Amino acid sequence: MTIITPRKPVRLTDRVRRIQPSPTLMVLNKANELIASGVDVIDFGPGEPDFRTPLPVCEAGKLAIDQGLTKYTNALGTNDLRDTIAANYNRRFGTAVRRENVIAGTGGKQELFNAVLALVSDGDEVIIPSPYWVSFPDQVVFAGGTPIFVETSAANGFRPTAAMIRGAITAKSRGVILNSPCNPTGAVVQKDELEAIIELCASHDMFLMFDETYELFVYDGLEHVSAISWVDRYPETIIVINSCSKTFAMTGWRIGYAVAHAELIAAMGKIQSHSTSNPSSISQVAAVAALRGEGDEVATMYAAYVERRAWLVPALNAIQGIQCTPPDGAFYVFPRVSDLYGSRSITDSSSLAAFLLEEARVAVVPGAAFGADDFIRISYATSMDALREGVSRIGAAAARLR
Ligand code: GLU
Repeated sequence: MTIITPRKPVRLTDRVRRIQPSPTLMVLNKANELIASGVDVIDFGPGEPDFRTPLPVCEAGKLAIDQGLTKYTNALGTNDLRDTIAANYNRRFGTAVRRENVIAGTGGKQELFNAVLALVSDGDEVIIPSPYWVSFPDQVVFAGGTPIFVETSAANGFRPTAAMIRGAITAKSRGVILNSPCNPTGAVVQKDELEAIIELCASHDMFLMFDETYELFVYDGLEHVSAISWVDRYPETIIVINSCSKTFAMTGWRIGYAVAHAELIAAMGKIQSHSTSNPSSISQVAAVAALRGEGDEVATMYAAYVERRAWLVPALNAIQGIQCTPPDGAFYVFPRVSDLYGSRSITDSSSLAAFLLEEARVAVVPGAAFGADDFIRISYATSMDALREGVSRIGAAAARLR
């Protein structure tokens, strides 16, 4: 069988030429291909919990199939799911969010994209702290906007500040995308800083897109502060994005959601109604069970992440050429590896990641994908055994570079 290939140049749009495939998903595909072909790869690539989806959540999905809940739903999600999401926020943060303020879609990624498409026009600038999650800039570029990066530093735990954001504001600024805890650095924005950023956004008529996908995974006594707490005061400013993927180990079920003022939710719903329509009806039933705390295994997962992080950070720091600051949250470490550059053909994070995959059979994501070429990202959403084996392989490979 041959692959169908065009015989003459294809007129793809400028819009699609300007973006790249998701680097995290490329690492996932590559590692999975190698594993399927029998190569013993330790996969530190994707941010995907190694835990199974809790059993009662799976049961809810199975029941949905048995009961025939296998048809279209409202494109913005079922009333049951949207009400459950609203009730969760209201219970936890004392807000007065209603169904009309909620949209559920095929992953948090889709809701981010919907919001960017609804808010960013050609030429608009969107401020994004760097290192950033891979899809933020490409979504902005796809919409016709320009990402403006503000550098955070490892010395300050990669935490963004209002002063940094203020320094990047121009007449073209349309909004800010903040991810707390941050993928890939784990940085958690603290309350005073978040409040100052929100006030800054509100006073400059900018949106604050607040992605809190990793909200429950915060360590060392730090507290996750949600931008939703300011939604009553600044309803035009705050957009919260969240997901069931990481919290409930439901990556493949593809359920994410957004909470914002009703006009934006309706605009995002319009886009969704013309793209995917509703997220899977079966997954929505499962998500309701998860959000209601059925089969609550978050505490078990959290305890495992605490243990892994406590082992992993010093183990990486013990390798000559690697420096790793303890991340505030999420389930990634983002060590500096640039001291390993310069020998063999290793010149940057991409060539180092390729070397680690080929010679150590360890998959990591190059820091360049997140805008920080001196670093690599290691996901510790994997077993202690895999961590021990993978870190030992990285240590042996790093020794060969000296
Ligand atoms: N968000 C996860 C990661 O960063 C999954 C892959 C993706 O959607 O980018 O690895």
